Amino acid sequence: MSVFHDEVEIEDFEYDEETETYYFPCPCGDRFAITKEDLENGEEVATCPSCSLIVRVIYDKEDFMSGEIIPAPAVENKVELAKT
Ligand SMILES: [Zn+2]
Repeated sequence: MSVFHDEVEIEDFEYDEETETYYFPCPCGDRFAITKEDLENGEEVATCPSCSLIVRVIYDKEDFMSGEIIPAPAVENKVELAKT
């Protein structure tokens, strides 16, 4: 089991649009990082590349996973135009 160094709300992370990654300062001097893609996949662990610490990201998954909801296609009853 992982032990989180801390729990941090996504609002407290700094977002880098170029890399689409959220950053939060780590006590070691580097930064915890978690990508937008990770969040969309339901990932909630931000890792630091320079040490073994991890933080749990507090965020509303629905805000990031909205694209996940795929409405059922309603094309079962195709209307075929009568050919004359
Ligand atoms: Zn660190």
